[in-house]
Amino acid sequence: MSNNNQNNRTIKELKQQLYKEVELKSQIIVHGIKVNPTIFKHLELGEKVQEQIHGLFEMDHKEHAGVAFPCSFTSPSGINYSFTWDPDSDITIDYVENQYILYDRGEEKFPITFTERPKYYKLLTSDQVEMSHVASFNPTKTVGVAYSNECALKDKGLDCLFCNANATKNTYADIENIKWKNPKQIAETVKAAYELDGGLHVNITGGFIPERREVDYYIDVAEAIQEELGQKDFNGTAVIGAPEDLSVIDKYKEAGYRTLAIQIEIWDKNIFKTICPGKEKECGGWQHWVDALEYAVKVFGFGKVRTGFVAGIEPKEKTLEGVEYLAKRGILSLTNAWNPNPGSKLEGHRTPSPEWHFDLAKKTYAIFKQVGFTYEQYFDVSPSADFLVHDLYRIDEERLPIY
Ligand code: SF4
Repeated sequence: MSNNNQNNRTIKELKQQLYKEVELKSQIIVHGIKVNPTIFKHLELGEKVQEQIHGLFEMDHKEHAGVAFPCSFTSPSGINYSFTWDPDSDITIDYVENQYILYDRGEEKFPITFTERPKYYKLLTSDQVEMSHVASFNPTKTVGVAYSNECALKDKGLDCLFCNANATKNTYADIENIKWKNPKQIAETVKAAYELDGGLHVNITGGFIPERREVDYYIDVAEAIQEELGQKDFNGTAVIGAPEDLSVIDKYKEAGYRTLAIQIEIWDKNIFKTICPGKEKECGGWQHWVDALEYAVKVFGFGKVRTGFVAGIEPKEKTLEGVEYLAKRGILSLTNAWNPNPGSKLEGHRTPSPEWHFDLAKKTYAIFKQVGFTYEQYFDVSPSADFLVHDLYRIDEERLPIY
């Protein structure tokens, strides 16, 4: 057998092994991880290792006010995992002979490495706010800004049923000192994250603000970042609600955002009405969200607009119908698993099985490849690059460190 044939076989086997790992990752996403929090005493959490900070959503399956957890870890192959705590999970992490090991129902899987704390986390903005509380950092080199930590839809009893932004604020805002962020704080933090930690993309989001004045705020943020970085294109995604007047979308492009996100959440019109009552009643209804996405792609271009689905609330076929419809028009979709967050109206419900979500990820990926979306386009529109679909790109295109 020639060396080439041998190499091809090895790569094929490696890919099979990595796909298996992504199946396990889907289990971890759905079931979370059980740990005894005392095992983290060896980690120097909040000094050497990155700690969770609850800027907008609690994603652990139970609230844990006052108990620190790490954010994320990587496997030996370089696949990134969020740490999601679930005290009832069969997947566990233990500290054994100076290393952390992941187990699935008692079977050892692999040693893991928790994410180092970003360098900028220890800095303060010029008005003395901790940068770690202004923007979070994902090891896939993405910076996440939640400029507000509440949603005005709650005042009318119209917040989305899967969302726990307001509940997260009630539980964590005081003890973790989470506040609204001003454009200068954001700009200084983005600069530090780009320069000290190699940040490559910033995703700016938040709940609805009263009277929908978000466009002025987003323009101020873009100007402040451009001034701080000394460059017009800062690879920013503005995450917005569908504006009543669609021509407002042009202003985000003019302001310098490279990409735009408008989260439709649900493709079935009737389920959308029930699950997203505020998006239905305050923003022109489901059709207006679709119109906004189609308008946005004309302004921003193919592969520069995204939406997101809370995958698992509606039938898979419906979500895929939406993914395909939008992809054919140049719009990317996030299809990561619905996590029935604590404090949301759907707390206590169950998301579909890990196999269901893995299958959705594979089908989403196949649609993306068919229309020609690149990994770079998907990276630029995503809040972080650690979803199952990113992993499928990274395996298929041999982008993981293990290759
Ligand atoms: S619009 Fe919906 S998902 Fe977004 S913050 Fe408000 S309630 Fe949550």
